[in-house]
Amino acid sequence: MQFIDLAAQYQHLKSKIDRRIQTVLDHGQYIMGPEVLELENQLADYVGVKHVISCANGTDALTLVLMALGIGQGDGVLVPTFTFFASAETVAFAGATPVFVDSDPSTFNICPVDLEKRIQAIQSEGKLELKAIMTVDLFGLPANYPAIQKIADKYGLKIISDSAQGFGGEINGQRAGSFGDIATTSFFPAKPLGCYGDGGAIFTNNDDYAELIRCYRVHGKGRDKYDNVRIGVNSRLDTLQAAILLEKLAVFPDELEKRKALADSYQTQLSNTFNTPQVPTGYLSSWAQYTLVSDNRDDYIAKLKEKGIPSMVYYSTCMHQQTAFDRLGYQRDDFPVAEKLAKTVFSLPMHPYMSEAEQEQVVKVLLA
Ligand SMILES: *Cc1c(COP(=O)(O)O)cnc(C)c1O
Repeated sequence: MQFIDLAAQYQHLKSKIDRRIQTVLDHGQYIMGPEVLELENQLADYVGVKHVISCANGTDALTLVLMALGIGQGDGVLVPTFTFFASAETVAFAGATPVFVDSDPSTFNICPVDLEKRIQAIQSEGKLELKAIMTVDLFGLPANYPAIQKIADKYGLKIISDSAQGFGGEINGQRAGSFGDIATTSFFPAKPLGCYGDGGAIFTNNDDYAELIRCYRVHGKGRDKYDNVRIGVNSRLDTLQAAILLEKLAVFPDELEKRKALADSYQTQLSNTFNTPQVPTGYLSSWAQYTLVSDNRDDYIAKLKEKGIPSMVYYSTCMHQQTAFDRLGYQRDDFPVAEKLAKTVFSLPMHPYMSEAEQEQVVKVLLA
């Protein structure tokens, strides 16, 4: 059994994807070919934003956003400590300081109550100038944007939405990627919408940010790429990846339905025995991961492994406990909820091509 079966998805889409790839090979415009713009337009329609700028990966997407917002030395960005490294890494890479925030125990997302406490603590300390809150739509569930937007407005902070795992999620019909001032996603193969390599995108309604990011994306280009008006990077999405994504986006709504059906079925069968993921009313998760909480996770992981069933731990180390962030001086117990999650979460196989029989096998082992 696969944790995420990308080969099964390819078999399902083979003729369409092969045709798309052949079209690119025939026209030969490997960099910024017509599929890139076509994809950006379709993504803008799907998410419901004015601008989509594709780029080389989800990490670069965050870096480009931080550049566009002018965030650097002396600035602070609030980031959940329970996330993938790139969220906090890009803040530090930009020269700014990540300010970690604890998690909500039921959604695993950034906790609005702790967020406000950390903001007040940093402000009274007076060393950093807080600029933005980086929310993360962890495991596919949008962060609590209604609450976070209020806090952002109260303290004059921007919201950067790291929706690398959130693409396809919704709150009351509004889609992930459209929350906050600017949002990013990743097309890493295992993300809800993945390509066959690295890829990423940025979403915003702000014309100025969009223009700046289009410039930074290609060596700070002005009129053309040999007219350089800023120091930028080289972070384009390959035409081949855009072509593949066009076919995957076409079946994405259908895949989301399948993920939701699997999640509902896990929920029905496992909720009496485990802490199963909570989806607040009005929210839709894209189920990037299906994550359980258990004090005996190692036993369950071992039992699953015995039967050839893969499982994963996202994440066993919080950001404030990463060696790379030692210098920030955080202590153990600074983030009790996130630290507990790091010790108790584990994720089950979850992908749109998983069969009922496969899911039954997983559930059987967990309930044995
Ligand atoms: C995957 C991921 C990223 C980085 O995306 P890449 O495309 O791998 O660079 C950033 N943030 C989160 C939360 C992620 O899960």
